Amino acid sequence: MTYVCYHTASPETPAYTAQSPTQLPNDMSWSSAQGHDLVFTQTDSVYWIQVNLKNTSEETGFWYLKLSYPLLDNVTFWQSGHATPATMATGDRHAFGTRAVDYRYFLLPVTLGADGARTITLRIQSSGALNVPLSLVTPDEVIGESNKLTMTHGMFYGALLILAVFNILLFFSSRTVYYFHSAFFMTTLGLFMFAMGGFANQYFWPDTPDLANTSIPVSLALCSLAMLLFSRSFLEAGKKTWPDRIMTSLIWVSSGFLVLTFILPYTTTIAMNTILGVAVISCMMLVSIARLRQGYQPALWYVSAWITMLVGVVIYALAAFGFIPNFLATEAMMQTAVGGQVVLLNYAMVQRWRLLNEKLLAVESRARSEMESRVHERTSQLRNTMRELEKANRQLAVLSLNDSLTGLSNRRHMDTRLPELRAESIRKGAPLTIALIDADHFKRINDTWGHGFGDVFLQMIAEVLKKHAQRPRDMAVRFGGEEFALLLPDTDLTGTLSVCENILDDIQNTEVETPDGNFTSITVSAGIAALNANESITDLFKRADKALYKSKSDGRNCVTVASSTILNLA
Ligand code: GH3
Ligand code: MG
Ligand code: MG
Repeated sequence: MTYVCYHTASPETPAYTAQSPTQLPNDMSWSSAQGHDLVFTQTDSVYWIQVNLKNTSEETGFWYLKLSYPLLDNVTFWQSGHATPATMATGDRHAFGTRAVDYRYFLLPVTLGADGARTITLRIQSSGALNVPLSLVTPDEVIGESNKLTMTHGMFYGALLILAVFNILLFFSSRTVYYFHSAFFMTTLGLFMFAMGGFANQYFWPDTPDLANTSIPVSLALCSLAMLLFSRSFLEAGKKTWPDRIMTSLIWVSSGFLVLTFILPYTTTIAMNTILGVAVISCMMLVSIARLRQGYQPALWYVSAWITMLVGVVIYALAAFGFIPNFLATEAMMQTAVGGQVVLLNYAMVQRWRLLNEKLLAVESRARSEMESRVHERTSQLRNTMRELEKANRQLAVLSLNDSLTGLSNRRHMDTRLPELRAESIRKGAPLTIALIDADHFKRINDTWGHGFGDVFLQMIAEVLKKHAQRPRDMAVRFGGEEFALLLPDTDLTGTLSVCENILDDIQNTEVETPDGNFTSITVSAGIAALNANESITDLFKRADKALYKSKSDGRNCVTVASSTILNLA
């Protein structure tokens, strides 16, 4: 390739309306490209380019003139001399079949004999930014480049597709809507890149050139919409908060833009949607940073994803407005940015899931420990209640077995204990003696000083009984008003007699202060009997009672030993 020069033909100039090189004015001025790729920012001009080729070798050669920018609307090539086809009119406003070679870039086959020279003229008319990277390559170079790119593109679009499908599956299994939105986003992003790369033209709609153009702004608008839907469901800003309001209104705006994309001309819609994309990304950055500052952890990864995306969009915008000339480099940079963003977004979703899981586990363990402590509390309450119940039972037992005035055993206690003592005495052959003790003329005490004072005496008698019946198994009983008994196991009549005499002595000598300030004392009478072999309790009691009666009739304040049989006494 020896020389590239170009002419920018503004509308309504003869060069603009010219449809072939022969129609160009003779005095048209050409500018030199000076070895650089030609880049034109958005204008509505027509560009004429001339490439002069010369084969300096001794042999006939075959090359392609490669125009590596797939987004040009109308490109027409003319070859001077004998080459076939002499003319190739193509571009993405034409069916894919108009290209000489089935490739996403434009390739013009050029055959040059030894020392042959050729002038190739291009007429390019396109809406949007216009890059004209021209190079002369051998078929081997085309195949080599295509092979290399097949690998990276395959990996890139394949990964996007797999992630999108995976997210759809996650959506179906978890019913979490942001998985669906993320799949939607990845699909539209992939579609946009696919269209930008010229692949969509080649594979999806080779015979529908109208779609070739509209697919870019349409997929861009869809991308903005998907991004917003995803962000809204992922960032979980509360309803009616400002981030939620921003996202919701942008969703409406991008839906509107989507509709307009089908109505307005390409040049307008591509600019509109590019600006929308930048606006959406900037707003999402703001919203996600705000959410991060509100302590929403998954937003961290989301923010990183969006920073990466912002880099991608800036690259795209620069390329779209003609600031980055190298289409292949733009594509590679964008693929890297988009790939990075998609990976980070998926990581953000994993983080969010992890956070949710942690929260769930925390709630569960809190509930469990709460339940445990409640059970613990209930158990200890129950234990306390049982302890109290036991205590109450013990008190009840004591109350039911003891006399409340004197604290001595009561009649019931005596009635249960006596048969046991009798059985034990018979079994062991050990003596068992009982003494019945009755206060003398007690009625008089009551009558003189009142019942209350009588009770004081009864308590005094009880104290004396307790003091003298002091062996561990001795039992002092108040079984009637002023009637007491002693049950003395392992004690014979002699022993009991001496205990009773001591008691009588003690009581007689204990003076009690009367309510009127004087001192008085009391006497008691006693009858004692020892259990005979096989004698019943009733008989034993009868004999003791008779002996007591004898003491009373003998003048009181004395002890009588019962005779060994009831009959003898009668
Ligand atoms: P004796 O020498 O013949 O036994 O004469 P006594 O007055 O002691 O006998 P009696 O059986 O005629 O009277 C018993 C009296 O004991 C009748 C009652 O006023 C009194 N008494 C019975 N139980 C209680 C009591 O719990 N407290 C008081 N203060 N007096 C009682
Ligand atoms: Mg009595
Ligand atoms: Mg009495």
